[in-house]
Amino acid sequence: MRNTGIGEAEVTIREVGPRDGLQGERPLPTGERASLVLGLARAGCRRIEAASFVSEKAVPAMAGGGDVIRAAKAGFAAGEAPRARLTGLVPNLRGATAAIEAGCDELSVTVAASATYNEKNVRRTIEESVSEIAAICRQAADAALPVDAVVSCAFGSPYEGEEIAPVFVAELAARLVGHGCQAITLADTTGLANPPVLEQVVTALNSALPGADLGLHLHETRGTALLNAYVALELGVRRFDTALGGLGGSPFAQGAGGNLSTEDFVSFLESIGMTSGIDLAGILELAARLRLLVGHDIASKVRANP
Ligand code: ZN
Repeated sequence: MRNTGIGEAEVTIREVGPRDGLQGERPLPTGERASLVLGLARAGCRRIEAASFVSEKAVPAMAGGGDVIRAAKAGFAAGEAPRARLTGLVPNLRGATAAIEAGCDELSVTVAASATYNEKNVRRTIEESVSEIAAICRQAADAALPVDAVVSCAFGSPYEGEEIAPVFVAELAARLVGHGCQAITLADTTGLANPPVLEQVVTALNSALPGADLGLHLHETRGTALLNAYVALELGVRRFDTALGGLGGSPFAQGAGGNLSTEDFVSFLESIGMTSGIDLAGILELAARLRLLVGHDIASKVRANP
């Protein structure tokens, strides 16, 4: 392996395609979504955000999350794919109960660093979201499940005039860890991050929470996801959320743009001598099938047969 000069070469990818990627698409049957989870696991994805336990009325494409988790786990048990750690996104205690019952291995919860975004999109103040997350953490602890707190809008607010101070993001993250969250993922929900801002926020977080399990969830709104990912790698971040085909983005955040594409990121990591454990040929084959599954072209740059 080539020495990249940026240290530890192993990167952890959490594939969020079956959740973030598909949530804005036309609804697919749960069996198709479980097959996608198994396909990702066969391609070497060890961590997959497989379902969301939100209201079916709010996000119809995520209906039947429990069935997706159960079918994927049945596939693992039958030897159809190597076992992957499955995450369920939960918006509230009711969702957490459903995710735990379905057999999720990890829960993810979200709160926005933007007060306006939080109020407009989940109709709660940041304080109300933090209280709900604390309650979810207690429930997850009873079931011995880890909770990853995703702090959305961590690199800027989509609302004019609202500033997101890096120190505020770091303090919010520290409070979430204090309530029992094991990991923090900073999300660039509307693609506002750039290298200097990213460095400020990651540095603030590292000084508030030294040694924290820190991940990044980057969006491609302005074509900067891979650039920001590289800067994060240089800053020592080794965990990233990515989505097959670069699909996704919040259906509630205007102009959210897709996620950093798994195949583009895996290809990039290989090119700089870093590893993700994901097989590039396998993930490209899956991306080609994804076009047929969602019925349109996808935004990723690396193709199986260029
Ligand atoms: Zn996303």
